[in-house]
Amino acid sequence: MLILVTNDDGVDAAGLSAAAEAMAALGEVFVVAPDGNRSANSHALTLERPLRATELKPNWFSCDGTPADCVHLALNGLLRDRRPDLVLSGFNQGGNLGQDITYSGTVMAAFEATLIGVPALAASVDARGDFEFSGVAWAATVVAREVLAHGLPRATLLNMNAPSLPPARLKGIRLTTQGQRVYGDEIQERVDPRGKKYYWIAGQELGFEPIAGSDMVAVREGYVSLTPLSCDMTDHKFLREMAGRSWTGTT
Ligand code: MN
Repeated sequence: MLILVTNDDGVDAAGLSAAAEAMAALGEVFVVAPDGNRSANSHALTLERPLRATELKPNWFSCDGTPADCVHLALNGLLRDRRPDLVLSGFNQGGNLGQDITYSGTVMAAFEATLIGVPALAASVDARGDFEFSGVAWAATVVAREVLAHGLPRATLLNMNAPSLPPARLKGIRLTTQGQRVYGDEIQERVDPRGKKYYWIAGQELGFEPIAGSDMVAVREGYVSLTPLSCDMTDHKFLREMAGRSWTGTT
C-alpha cells in the first residue's frame, strides 16, 4: 500500500509527523506538505506562478503552494507512475467541524484527492493547543484500514475529528453529519506603528447548534466523529422543490 500524507499546517507541524507515523503501520508513506502554515486556504490552486518542491528527506517533500497544490503535484507529478491507495490529510491542529469544512485546507486537500480519484480521509484534532495525537492516530488507522480494504464511493471523502485525548479516553468512533458552528463576527480594528488602520478576523468560536447526530455533538461528547462528504454540492431536496416553481421569467 502507498499512502500520501499532506496537511495545511505545514511540513514542520507535529500533526503531520504523527499522521505519517500512524500511516507507516499500513504501508509506504509519501509526504508532500506546504512549506508553511496554509490553514483556511480551502481548495485554492496556484495558477499564476510555478510551484517548487523540495525533498527534505527520502519520500518527504515540502512545496511552496497550497494544500490542494500539494495533492495535485503529488498525484499528477511526483507520484505520476504510482497511484497511492489513500490520501490522509492531517492531523490538523484544530477541529474541522460544521461549516469549517469549506474554509479548511485540510479537508479540501482530501477533496482534491477525491476529484483526482484517490480515496481520501481528512483528520483533525479539536483543540486549540496541547494537541494529543495518539487518539486521532488510533482512529485514523482504524478508518484507513477499512478504506484500504473496501474503498469509498467515487465522489465521497471522509472527514474525521477527534477530541484531543489518548485512545483509552475516547468513547469510540461515531458516524455523524456535518454540524453547525456558531461563529463570532468580530473584526478587530487596530492601528499600525505608522498610524494606519488594519483589521484582524478574530475567528473566535462562540458555540455550536446541538444538532443530534452531528460532528460537533459527537466530539463534545468524547467520540471521534466520522462524516462522509460528497463532492456533489447540489441541494437535491431543494432542486425538487425548485422544479415546482417557475424559473422561465418573462420576455
Ligand atoms: Mn490547519
